[in-house]
Amino acid sequence: MTSTALLTEAQALGPDLAALRHDLHRIPEIGLDLPLTQARVLDALEGLDLEVTTGTALSSVTAVLRGAHPGPAVLLRGDMDALPVTEESGEPFTSEHHGVMHACGHDLHVAGLVGAARLLAARRDEIAGSVVFMFQPGEEGVHGARSMIEEGVLDAAGERVVAAYGVHVVSAMVPLGLVTGRPGTAMAAADQMYVTIHGRGGHGSMPHLAADPVTVAAEIVLAMQTAVTRQLDAHDPVVVSVGRIQAGTTDNVIPATAELAATIRTFSHEHHTAVPGVLTRLVEHVAAAHGLTAEVEYVRGYPVTVNDADEVDRAARVAAAMLGPEHYETAPRPVSGAEDFSYVLQEVPGAFLFLGATPPDADPATAPYNHSARARYDDSALPVAAALLASLALDRLEQG
Ligand SMILES: [Zn+2]
Repeated sequence: MTSTALLTEAQALGPDLAALRHDLHRIPEIGLDLPLTQARVLDALEGLDLEVTTGTALSSVTAVLRGAHPGPAVLLRGDMDALPVTEESGEPFTSEHHGVMHACGHDLHVAGLVGAARLLAARRDEIAGSVVFMFQPGEEGVHGARSMIEEGVLDAAGERVVAAYGVHVVSAMVPLGLVTGRPGTAMAAADQMYVTIHGRGGHGSMPHLAADPVTVAAEIVLAMQTAVTRQLDAHDPVVVSVGRIQAGTTDNVIPATAELAATIRTFSHEHHTAVPGVLTRLVEHVAAAHGLTAEVEYVRGYPVTVNDADEVDRAARVAAAMLGPEHYETAPRPVSGAEDFSYVLQEVPGAFLFLGATPPDADPATAPYNHSARARYDDSALPVAAALLASLALDRLEQG
């Protein structure tokens, strides 16, 4: 079987991939500009005979592998950025950049994708088509995937890719070596809403002479919860949490303005589209009902990450053949975090999968999860990620 042979080859690359990962882990970088990380990636791809280009608006790396035979193009993606977290993992290869940490495991994504490139480059003669390797900065909130799409990553092989795959490691919840996926919504959309209520300040003893934004703010906070449960289907959940509410300076002065900030999570394209209208109307009209005005700034975060059902079937089949059927599970529900691979999956069918990297000495139920300063990821996930990505590309290309 090709996939088991790939896994064996990937395991032989394991020490190299772990060394690369540790190197990256020591020098984490944040955002769209990751010069040190980019240099390591370019170095690691050296000698593989790939067509390598780098980004303009961001320090991305796009590498194209041309197979020996004609065929379609597929895309494999690894994100490269870290988080503003002060590391407390206790790992011997801990971050040397104070206040910055690869707390989400993107160092494993880079090393895993380099591994996939090596595995596939060694099989060039058998490949009918091309593979685009997408090394992406700026996943953590700054839309790096969207920028790479704008710079042409989906057409890097000279034609639009027919499928795209990504794997995300998790440091808890999923046992080591287990791959999970699900058809349809894999991850939420996350938007932000900033509200300013404009009233008129005055003396707390004579509110009728003022226009109180505080009572209006309080009413809006509660009305938002009612609105999402009354106006939107409860089987397609919407989570609204007001995380910041700010107004005034002291007990007996009615302030002129009040501010709210909320995060909004949705799990379908339909509700992602509907929610801004529902909440904006509500805020403006509650304020108007009391003779005040409100300004809404609705900021779109990442869209819903939606997997293609056929591509998830492929992933399940490929993972089971490679690792054994007990190493693949269908995730019962989406993850409520958001991911900018969603932009890729809006354009082409594909699958975004999770891979357990919980260290063997930790309990997946209690280990620190991704983004924790104490998150630890086991290196044995690296060959699995590399072989899984390579197998998915080969399987899709075999289909023609
Ligand atoms: Zn991540």
